[in-house]
Amino acid sequence: MTTEQRRDAVIAGLCAGTLPREQPLRVWGGVGTDVKCALCGDQTRPTDVEYEIEFASGASVTFHDQCYAIWNEERDRSDGVD
Ligand SMILES: [Zn+2]
Repeated sequence: MTTEQRRDAVIAGLCAGTLPREQPLRVWGGVGTDVKCALCGDQTRPTDVEYEIEFASGASVTFHDQCYAIWNEERDRSDGVD
């Protein structure tokens, strides 16, 4: 997935409600643990960096580092738009 494809997927996910827009409660970074990335759908591999994000609601999602960075950017950008 290219950066632009990831960005489109984030915007679509935020609009559709399939990706959270909330402020994370906690964020953990680490090596990939074969978890499905909430953005691109690929598994995080031991050679990747993954971020596990937990929300106040108790929900959590896992992203690759690149996917997390784009989600964070677009989540901030779209704050208050709808
Ligand atoms: Zn990903």
